[in-house]
Amino acid sequence: MIVDDGNEVLGDARRPTPTKGGPEAVAAELADTLADAGASAGIDPGELRGVGVGSPGAIDADAGTVAQARNLPDWIDPFPLADRLAESVGAPVRIDNDVSVATTAEFELGAAVQHDSLLGVFWGTGVGGGVVLNGEQWVGRGAAGEIGHMVVKKNGRRCPCGRKGCMEAYAGRGAMEIEARRLVKKGHETELFEIMEKRGRSRLQSGIWERALEREDPLAVKLIDRAVEALGAGVASVVNVLDVETVVIGGGLGTRLGEPYVDRIREAMQPHLFVSDRPPAVRLAALGDLGGAIGASLLV
Ligand SMILES: [Zn+2]
Repeated sequence: MIVDDGNEVLGDARRPTPTKGGPEAVAAELADTLADAGASAGIDPGELRGVGVGSPGAIDADAGTVAQARNLPDWIDPFPLADRLAESVGAPVRIDNDVSVATTAEFELGAAVQHDSLLGVFWGTGVGGGVVLNGEQWVGRGAAGEIGHMVVKKNGRRCPCGRKGCMEAYAGRGAMEIEARRLVKKGHETELFEIMEKRGRSRLQSGIWERALEREDPLAVKLIDRAVEALGAGVASVVNVLDVETVVIGGGLGTRLGEPYVDRIREAMQPHLFVSDRPPAVRLAALGDLGGAIGASLLV
C-alpha cells in the first residue's frame, strides 16, 4: 500500500505469501507487490521516502532482520529483509512486528485515537496482542503482548505453541481448524470442509467460518462459542492487570466477524472483570485488515 504524508492511500496491491522458496522468495514477492502498488498509484517505488514492513516473527528493527517467522516458509534464522528489500526497491526499509504496527495504527489513527492506553487483540490464525500504556507501546523485554498464550484452562487443549490451555488453543483459527479436523475424524458432521473445497481452499479461512456460522453449522457454532469464551476470559484477565481504557478487536477473524462478535466478546469478558461496573471500551479495529499496512507506513 502506498500512502502520502496525510496517510491517504494512493494505491495498493495484494499477493498471496509464497509457501516455498524461503525468505528470498518472500522478499522477491514483497518487491513485486510493491511494484504493483506503485503502478496503481502512478509512483516508482524507488522514489518513496521509505518502505515500512510489518512482519511476523522475531524482529530486530535496528539490524533489519526477521527470524523465527514460523508461518512463513523455512524462515528460522535471522534474514536481512530490510537490506534485501531496499536493494531491489531502491528506497530505505524499516521493519517491525506485524502486531506492533497494527496496534500503533489503531492507537494513532484508528479505534483508540482518543485514548492513552490500549490493548489490541488480533484474532486470526493465532491470537496476537499489543499493549499501549501512557501513549507508548509496551514491549517489555521484546516479547510483551503475547495474549494468545494466556492460560485460560489449566491442562487444557494443546496450543500450536506446544503448551496446554492457552487462549489461542481455543480461539486461534489454526487451532480451531485442528480441532475441527479431529472432531470430523471422530464422526462429527460439519459443512466447514465442504465450503472450503467449494472455494478451492486448503485451509479454513475466516470467510469459511463466517459462511458456516451463517448456515448455523453446529460444529462451527460450538467451536466459535468456545473461542469467544476463551477470548472473554483471557482479555478480561489482561484488563484486570492493566486497566486499559480501550480494547480493540482486530485480526482476520475479528475483522471478518465484525461488530456482533465484538459485542459477544464484551459480554464474555464481563463475568471475569474484577471491576465489573467500569469495563473498558471494547471496539472493532477501525482500520480493518488495512491496519497492518497503514501501521507499517508509520515506521517511515
Ligand atoms: Zn500457546
